[in-house]
Amino acid sequence: MLIAIVLGILTWSFLEYVIHRFLGHHRTWARKNPFGIEHTAHHSRGNYFAPAWKKGLAAGLFLAILLPPAWLLAGSYGLAYVIGFTAFYLSYEVLHRLMHVWAGVGPYGRWARRHHFFHHFHDPKKNHGVTSPIWDLVFGTYVRPEKIVVPEKLAMPWLFATDQTLRPELDRDYALRLTRASPRA
Ligand SMILES: [Zn+2]
Ligand SMILES: [Zn+2]
Repeated sequence: MLIAIVLGILTWSFLEYVIHRFLGHHRTWARKNPFGIEHTAHHSRGNYFAPAWKKGLAAGLFLAILLPPAWLLAGSYGLAYVIGFTAFYLSYEVLHRLMHVWAGVGPYGRWARRHHFFHHFHDPKKNHGVTSPIWDLVFGTYVRPEKIVVPEKLAMPWLFATDQTLRPELDRDYALRLTRASPRA
């Protein structure tokens, strides 16, 4: 049963990488699918996320396709697989949202933000995994970031101190780049 749950988790982890890399960033495919269009907006508008109803619809359709064969082929193990998959998908959604809106805590919070914002602001062809580096390491797209330079108009709100400068404790990890269109400039 535990193996079924772990397989479900690994399946989402793999899809998280593949969907992001190929539907989100492939040169031609990204412009032609709903995820790619929303993902382009996520990159170009900073802290924008696709509306919850779109995510819910996509997740519901995917589960409607996944659940019947999993149940028919493996019974309660199939159900455990789908539960592992769904729980980890939801964790991904929550973690990704938190990376954008909250400074985070602990080594994982720091690592995950630096990994993801390197992808956003330095090289969108690298670091496609959001919750883990596993598939980036497997497929050779992993980069360990140095200081991350964030364009000010796309910056996450948690980077700023009350006087709208970079919070001093984040100075070793991030720098702000002033942009002309910046509302803060
Ligand atoms: Zn993001
Ligand atoms: Zn991306």
